[in-house]
Amino acid sequence: MTDKVQFYIDIVGSCNLRCPSCPKGNSSHVENSSGVMSLDLLDQILLKAKSEYNVESINLYNWTEPFVHPKLPEAIRLVHNHGLACGISSNLSFAPRLKEVMDEKPEGFKVSLSGFNQAVYERSHSGGDIEKVKENIELLARLWKENGQFTYVEVNFHRYLGNLDDELEMQRFVQGLGLNFTSVFASFCPLEKTLHLYDSSIGSPLTAADEKLLEILYLTPYDYIEIAKCVGKKYECARYTNQVVLNHLGQAQLCCVVYDETKYGVGNFLELSKAQLLDRRRKQDVCKSCCEINTNERSYTDEEMQAILKTTKRLKKDRFRQYYSKNQGLKELIFSDAEEMEQSLGASTAGQVIALEASLAAKDEQIRELRKLVEQAKNKK
Ligand code: SF4
Ligand code: SF4
Repeated sequence: MTDKVQFYIDIVGSCNLRCPSCPKGNSSHVENSSGVMSLDLLDQILLKAKSEYNVESINLYNWTEPFVHPKLPEAIRLVHNHGLACGISSNLSFAPRLKEVMDEKPEGFKVSLSGFNQAVYERSHSGGDIEKVKENIELLARLWKENGQFTYVEVNFHRYLGNLDDELEMQRFVQGLGLNFTSVFASFCPLEKTLHLYDSSIGSPLTAADEKLLEILYLTPYDYIEIAKCVGKKYECARYTNQVVLNHLGQAQLCCVVYDETKYGVGNFLELSKAQLLDRRRKQDVCKSCCEINTNERSYTDEEMQAILKTTKRLKKDRFRQYYSKNQGLKELIFSDAEEMEQSLGASTAGQVIALEASLAAKDEQIRELRKLVEQAKNKK
């Protein structure tokens, strides 16, 4: 049996939001096509996919919002008619026909968001209405219970600097409805923008809006390039074989992390054999630069993982400190004790406290715990 393959199919060419961390919000200079995939085309794609690949699931999204498709429930039904599992991912700010979608019982349903209050949410989900999202999550939870909790529903919170209180509120809200809640450190897409920092012949430079977004990221593209330096390179990528990515016209794309289909589109899926498609993907020049900065999907040794985690932790901590230091009140609240200790106890003891602070920095409420520990350390002295 060949490797399992995830299909990511953008059944539309658009999204209702313009998130600054996503090419839909930060790459208007790229001329990707817009439109809606017909059910007939989807049917032909599914037939071919089944005949040539060991399909793990059909995900009706990559860079777009599936609810924009007027026939999303019918598209899910079609996937099921082919005997395949179906996943969708949505911002849920706009969810017409949500009941009919849930009636089709998709196997996976992910909701992505980044705030509980509008002022925080709209920094990173531009154009969305968090109150509408919450209303839709409540409806989703009700429908999920009605359909026997068949669908795996997950609300995924994108963590940015400054949205930790909102994360806790959202976690309480989502778990109170009985749904799964997860969080992830937000990243900056598409890959071309990061690669441009390494190889200026790829993509385009960061814009002023991009630089503004970087201010609230725990890890910026510059950080990723630095992290990549702590391990060796591997010129291989699992994405060639574990995924197939198509736009709404059925054009195959190199992989899920590049965006510009005029550059990284590799041909019509229906007209290419599996071997031809793989060959075209492997020949893309951009992959060499991608492997140079370790943004390819590859394996790491335990030692390499340790080095990555260590550097990642340090960089996140620096970013956290930098962000909160901008506000004098917060700086005093969070950092002044550690600085005082550094003078009175020496850098190494204070360093332990600061390291502890970094490990506790994941949530704002944990900072309060840190203050207690700093007090204890002072008393011991
Ligand atoms: S991140 Fe999702 S919701 Fe935001 S613009 Fe991109 S596709 Fe739309
Ligand atoms: S090497 Fe990079 S650009 Fe090429 S397929 Fe893998 S992730 Fe995509």
